[in-house]
Amino acid sequence: MANITKKVSWSSRGDDRGERTPLLNGAEEAKYNKQDIVRSRPKEIPHNEKLLSLKYESLDYDNSENQLFLEEERRMSHMPIAAGSGIPQIKCYLNGVKIPRVVRLKTLAIKVFGVICSVAGGLAVGKEGPMIHSGAVVAAGVSQGRSTSLKKDFKIFEYFRRDTEKRDFVSAGAAAGVSAAFGAPVGGVLFSLEEGASFWNQMLTWRIFFASMISTFTLNFFLSIYHGKPGQLSSPGLINFGRFDGDSVQYNLYEIPLFIIMGALGGMLGALFNVINYWLTIFRIRYVHRPCLQVMEAMLVAAVTATVSFAMIYFSNDCQPLGQDSTEEYPLQLFCADGEYNSMATAFFNTPERSVRSLFHNPPGTYNPITLGLFTLAYFFLAVWTYGLTVSAGVFIPSLLIGAAWGRLFGILLSYIASSQSIWADPGKYALIGAAAQLGGIVRMTLSLTVILVEATGNVTYGFPIMLVLMTAKIVGDYFIEGLYDIHIKLQSVPFLHWEAPPTSHWLTAREVMSSPVTCFNRVEKVGRIVDVLSNTSTIHNGFPVVVDTTDNDDEPGKICGLILRSQLIVLLKHKVFVERASSRLSQRRLQLKDFRDAYPRFPPIQSIHVSQDERECMMDLTEFMNPTPYTVPQETSLPRVFKLFRALGLRHLVVVDNENRVVGLVTRKDLARYHVGKDGLEELHLAQT
Ligand code: ATP
Ligand code: MG
Repeated sequence: MANITKKVSWSSRGDDRGERTPLLNGAEEAKYNKQDIVRSRPKEIPHNEKLLSLKYESLDYDNSENQLFLEEERRMSHMPIAAGSGIPQIKCYLNGVKIPRVVRLKTLAIKVFGVICSVAGGLAVGKEGPMIHSGAVVAAGVSQGRSTSLKKDFKIFEYFRRDTEKRDFVSAGAAAGVSAAFGAPVGGVLFSLEEGASFWNQMLTWRIFFASMISTFTLNFFLSIYHGKPGQLSSPGLINFGRFDGDSVQYNLYEIPLFIIMGALGGMLGALFNVINYWLTIFRIRYVHRPCLQVMEAMLVAAVTATVSFAMIYFSNDCQPLGQDSTEEYPLQLFCADGEYNSMATAFFNTPERSVRSLFHNPPGTYNPITLGLFTLAYFFLAVWTYGLTVSAGVFIPSLLIGAAWGRLFGILLSYIASSQSIWADPGKYALIGAAAQLGGIVRMTLSLTVILVEATGNVTYGFPIMLVLMTAKIVGDYFIEGLYDIHIKLQSVPFLHWEAPPTSHWLTAREVMSSPVTCFNRVEKVGRIVDVLSNTSTIHNGFPVVVDTTDNDDEPGKICGLILRSQLIVLLKHKVFVERASSRLSQRRLQLKDFRDAYPRFPPIQSIHVSQDERECMMDLTEFMNPTPYTVPQETSLPRVFKLFRALGLRHLVVVDNENRVVGLVTRKDLARYHVGKDGLEELHLAQT
């Protein structure tokens, strides 16, 4: 058995923790001192995957059931309250990790503007990821009834100002985003279930369903006005792949092995995509971290994309006659003879979703196999290079496009093999299957992707083949490397908790995992000590067990009686809730939950709170404000059990106690996320203040 010892390296970055994280897709590096950064930024940033970053704090998905909360619950009548992608980032948020600025209004504005430019600019990107992210931001914002960016508080929905409620809104927002993007309300719900929400319950299901429903209706309503037919609610989603219907929609038993082969191919190509993108992302983290370099890279990619597209069209001699049944809206003649259009241009010069649609539905014979082969190759590398660039970009549509191209090629090759009159080798059908296989191979979604594709193509017949290829693609892809989103989460050193604890971790117990000794507070604590502990920049803890007042015997840990958060202590210090002031009637009123909610989610730093020398001598009674029943476990609890508690309850702190209920250790998310299975069995990541 390996002897696992805990290593924590604290760098001297002090208190700038957290706020400097760029979004994974790299949005804004905000308002910190630029000069400092330029000066202190080394040319190469050493990147080590075996690290877990301490800069990511957790969200509080466990309610603090303190006295104030219970009083409010008692007072509350039931009515009024009840009435009331960044895909990887959203995934992390819903898992319980606070990714700075992920649900801010500013992020939304930049995201929307960015995605318009990147899609219209012809990059190999899609708009669905940003739409899902936007849905989540809107939900997070609306649910709070205020915007800190706009400095406006509408004084509504105050009940929702806590992590648990906001999380549910974000889940629903993401679902609404999918729903609007693909016109897939059920797919949206399933997307939230499969990819997003780490914590799921019955209530959430129908809330998300409701959000999805409203989103579809709203979209349809406004689209009907946009199309000049107000009231006609049958518009498809914003990304539309056209309907598969008619007699050609069929498949046969003997095609099943072909679908499985395509699924496997998709899994392998997806894994290749992920591996290349993984190396590229590491390169970017190391060398392309300066904003000017990031802008230059984006410009380079845009230039190369345009050049490659144009060169491909220029050298292509795939000219197709402009017949009656041509579905092209804007066929491009370019260098073709009159009455003909260039097939390569159809693939390159349209928006990616439009190209997908053409590949699905254009009649057989509209694409040359060489055109499709070259297009797949070129677009594959452009898409790999583009994902992770510091622009708003989704990976769904480019993946579908790559898959549709090689799927159609597969179909054409099949029709060469099959007898000429057979109708089963319809290239459009294989384009759809290829698209599913490629996307499944990259993102490894199964359930939700099936439903999204079924809804987006308005066809249930292909449900089974799509399920089959997605399963195959996932199994084959997982054999080589994780899904793209997971790779990016890992590369950012986010303490993400997966569904299960690492398989070989049963022999580890809470005693080995926990931190000890634990910084605790007495139930009635001296203000000076609280301020000192909170201001200590070498150990920035966010949760503190509260113990029954101990005598001066320091060796013996105290008995647990509660848990209090840094944010709560800060609000208490700000309002000077001291025992002495209460008894001398100096304080105007009792603190209420509202005071905590008003400060949520950006609690001021301890440095901004002034405590005079006299006040340092005062006492603070934490009884009313602490969570009096924190979850505790005995020291012998195995890691998987601790993991399960964290995962199922969305915990942030778990106190480890001995058999007399004395606090002996504390476990947080990072203590658990540190363990993972590597090549040589169970490995331990290091915690670092990076
Ligand atoms: P989070 O950052 O997730 O919001 P946190 O800041 O309270 O929560 P971590 O950042 O996960 O906790 O803690 C980093 C390390 O410090 C972990 O190993 C954890 O066990 C330890 N730790 C956290 N709180 C205390 C405490 N009160 N006393 C001693 N060690 C602690
Ligand atoms: Mg922390």
